[in-house]
Amino acid sequence: MSLYTSVVLKGDQDSQQGTKRKTECPKSPDSPTTSMLQETPLQNLHLASQAVLERAQKQGRSKCPKCNSSRMFYCYTCYVPVETVPTSEIPVVKLPVKVDIIKHPNETDGKSTAVHAKLLAPEDVTIYTYPCIPDYEEMKHEIALIFPGPNSVSVNDIPLSLLNKLEKKVGCKRVNDLPVEPVLKHAKVEPASDSDFGDLSSHSAIKNTGLKKIIFVDSTWNQTNKIITDERLQALLQIELKSRKTCFWRHQKGKPDTYLSTIEAIYYFLVDYHRELLKEKYEGQYDNLLFFYSFMYQLIKNARSSAGKE
Ligand SMILES: [Zn+2]
Repeated sequence: MSLYTSVVLKGDQDSQQGTKRKTECPKSPDSPTTSMLQETPLQNLHLASQAVLERAQKQGRSKCPKCNSSRMFYCYTCYVPVETVPTSEIPVVKLPVKVDIIKHPNETDGKSTAVHAKLLAPEDVTIYTYPCIPDYEEMKHEIALIFPGPNSVSVNDIPLSLLNKLEKKVGCKRVNDLPVEPVLKHAKVEPASDSDFGDLSSHSAIKNTGLKKIIFVDSTWNQTNKIITDERLQALLQIELKSRKTCFWRHQKGKPDTYLSTIEAIYYFLVDYHRELLKEKYEGQYDNLLFFYSFMYQLIKNARSSAGKE
């Protein structure tokens, strides 16, 4: 489980667009456990058919094709679906940036939602087990770490913040000599207007945000602090997500419900990135990242309901 706090929204930008985000969790007047049973969040996502998961769930645990372990849906150590879940029936999500997930070795694999990202966006996601992580030093001007620290900035500030890092990196070189013109241009671009003269905003000229890779830490809060203070991650730009409530079924008592699971954090980051930096209309492009998550959420909700705990 990963625990992400985030800034409080000053105004709900989604509601300004006339449609309230359907994927958000319900308000929680009571404890998180009861609140998430009151409504059905995650139900209006643009998801691929989950029939394959329904079948697999009826068949029970199945074998991992790699390590032969008995698992439900997927193997959380090999990052592959089990035999009853053919890869061809799992959606593939193309991400606009690469995603690295740094997993704490003590984090219980079966509880982590990080593997969902690897299963659904295998080309774009890499999972590392701490302390074996890449050296990001040379790429720090094109990478950001999702972490709500004292120096973290919002998604909107990514282009300028990365540009600052690039300027520091090259020292006395003039920025104009560098191939960063699109970044500069992007930073000055006005928010896309909804004019009816075609959607110029979605063309490539403003798509260079400077960001190539985003890093998430998959661990409990205490473990996260240890990873975050690793000197190899110190130079990286830190991003704080907008406040959203988790739907995570392993939500712990005493933790704010704005601590998101890793797959939720990845999903919400990408939605914001798509809307606010790529300036494109969000039409569910990344919803399938929640393919397993939403199904498992529903299973647990149903199980608790039938157990009479509701
Ligand atoms: Zn396996």
